[in-house]
Amino acid sequence: MIPYGRQQIDATDIAAVIETLQSDFLTQGPKVPAFEQAVARHCQARFAVAMNSATSALHLACLALQVGPGDVVWTSPISFVASANCALYCGANIDFVDVDEQTGLMDPAALEQKLQQAQASGTLPKVVIPVHLAGHSCDMERIAAICSPFGIRIIEDASHAIGALYQQRPVGCCQYSDITVFSFHPVKIITSAEGGMALCNDPVLDSQLRLLRSHGITRDAGEMTEQSHGPWYYQQIGLGFNYRMTDLQAALGLSQLDRLPQFVQQRIKATEIYQQLLQDLPVNLPVPAVDGISAWHLYIIRLQQPLQRLQVFEQLRAAGIGVNVHYIPIHTQPYYQNLGFDWGQFPHSESFYSEIISLPLFAGITIAQQQQVADALRQACGTR
Ligand SMILES: *Cc1c(COP(=O)(O)O)cnc(C)c1O
Repeated sequence: MIPYGRQQIDATDIAAVIETLQSDFLTQGPKVPAFEQAVARHCQARFAVAMNSATSALHLACLALQVGPGDVVWTSPISFVASANCALYCGANIDFVDVDEQTGLMDPAALEQKLQQAQASGTLPKVVIPVHLAGHSCDMERIAAICSPFGIRIIEDASHAIGALYQQRPVGCCQYSDITVFSFHPVKIITSAEGGMALCNDPVLDSQLRLLRSHGITRDAGEMTEQSHGPWYYQQIGLGFNYRMTDLQAALGLSQLDRLPQFVQQRIKATEIYQQLLQDLPVNLPVPAVDGISAWHLYIIRLQQPLQRLQVFEQLRAAGIGVNVHYIPIHTQPYYQNLGFDWGQFPHSESFYSEIISLPLFAGITIAQQQQVADALRQACGTR
């Protein structure tokens, strides 16, 4: 089975992890800060806080922006459930903004319209979380311009988009957001096995994120409420979690980061090959990022009428192609239906969902594999 996504691990990655394994620190050593600084530098952000997952990073990003009971957070229905769950962890309410039917990205026009309605009814969100689906940045300049008059804060869920550019600057620079979150799960662009990171430019948010990551404990005298008792002293000044990344993970992430430009180049090359192989099929190929360069985490095609997604999907799987669907609209999940959401609420998300299939795309996919995908798709479309 050709998977829809997978990691690429080489000898330097393995050596980096072994070196850390043989060192004094498996966790809370030098590799985590080194990885944080390297990602911050790469992304042109002032601060980066590594965590054990992007899910944790989204949770703490919400908490750092003081999301709590009575607040509302908005995100996109076309995302992994973690983009919405983070608000619920904080006791806040969640709502969704419909997507553009072509790209699956949050539609700024829908955001603008929904904000006007929310203002009229006194239900403005505290935070909006745009999702850079497939590695294509949302239109962040426009989203920020729409949100800023209302004082709404922005978290970019860039789990798919490390290595992407928006307006010639790296995604993660937080030019149009308060915090940007990356995931390092093995299917994403670079991996630390499990792992995530939150980037920001505000020192207050940075220290909040660090505090929350490790139990709400500080060893910084400047943050303490009374004199230190001695060198062993620490204070718990908030209620945090253990969301730390290990040094083993950071060593892998740091090693992978060296090849990030290479990984994105390989993904871009593979999309160009798909473009050629698939151009005459009755499918809509993904629309590239308008103002920037996508990191191409996913290659999401949309089937044209009258192709049936289930049938095409099953045929591809039977042919050994590990296709997938990104994503089932979050508001239609039973857990969210129990919160009051239902089918029909976000029609563009639902029509996008009904047409999409993610074809295999990863750094290291071979032309022969892509040819096999194209042949199987051609057969499944009935146009051999
Ligand atoms: C993968 C993913 C997450 C969660 O990432 P983890 O690191 O697995 O917690 C969140 N949002 C999106 C859009 C994702 O694709």
